[in-house]
Amino acid sequence: MAEVETVTGPVGLGDLGTTLIHEHLKMRSEPTAEQFPHLYDDEEALRRATATARALVDQGVKTICDPSCLYHGRDVGFMKRVSEETGLQVVPCTGIYTYNELPQYFKNRDEDHMAEVFAHDIEQGIQGTGIKAAFLKCAVDEPGITDDVGKVLRACARASKNTGRPLMVHSHPATRRGLEIMDVLDEGAVDPATVQIAHTGDTDDVEYIEELLERGPFIGMDRYGIDLILAADKRNETVLTLLERGHADRMFLSTDACAEFDWFPAELIAQATPNWKSTYLFDEIVPQLREAGMTDDQLDQMMIENPRRWLGGN
Ligand SMILES: [Zn+2]
Repeated sequence: MAEVETVTGPVGLGDLGTTLIHEHLKMRSEPTAEQFPHLYDDEEALRRATATARALVDQGVKTICDPSCLYHGRDVGFMKRVSEETGLQVVPCTGIYTYNELPQYFKNRDEDHMAEVFAHDIEQGIQGTGIKAAFLKCAVDEPGITDDVGKVLRACARASKNTGRPLMVHSHPATRRGLEIMDVLDEGAVDPATVQIAHTGDTDDVEYIEELLERGPFIGMDRYGIDLILAADKRNETVLTLLERGHADRMFLSTDACAEFDWFPAELIAQATPNWKSTYLFDEIVPQLREAGMTDDQLDQMMIENPRRWLGGN
């Protein structure tokens, strides 16, 4: 596959450039936003997301992957407006983000149907637009691979195999979920080189991370700024250790920040995670990692080459 779908159409793999693999332009509690729109200010959301995108472009970021899907209030029209206004390339996905429960619609239908729905977004387009999903997204968190979560994971595996698109799985490293995820994907005969285990950088347990890397996936060191889970200096130590051990070709650096985010009151987020912004990576973290010995080649590998390889399916 020589091209990748973005919200403004396909781009060549070689034109992705510096890519943040996990950033959200807008994340909302989907049923709440649908039913109580008076709680939201859409113009302000657009202003915020556009400001973030513009700041990233100013830092030299050319592309973001926005893994917003079902339960995040995925809105590809919004992504497209932000992309058109700023020039930032935005790569969208399809999938379901749940730690436990599914919507009744999917609860009462089988995983083959779910896989077909995902394939529709990849092959036909998302939400009645011609915008096509470039990758699949699902989640396995602390509750583990429950019946419903397993169903989503297997449906994503099937859709990934059938369409040749890569798969990003949110994980919970404190419970070593990455290994269980790989067990299910191995059973589904998914090529591990198309898999990304997101949030692996939430732990500094290098032994676990190397055990996971032996299974062949890419890993997301992708939550810089969420100090409540792991402080930046610990995240850096882990990344530097993995670089020393030769794993630059498997890691992504990102922040998982959301330009517009309704899960908590805004004041609370600003107070609890003051650094959690998409621009934090190049403002603070990259200079720190460089200072500590990360080479330009290693940075390019993580920010340019690995996104190109993962999105390209190898
Ligand atoms: Zn995310």
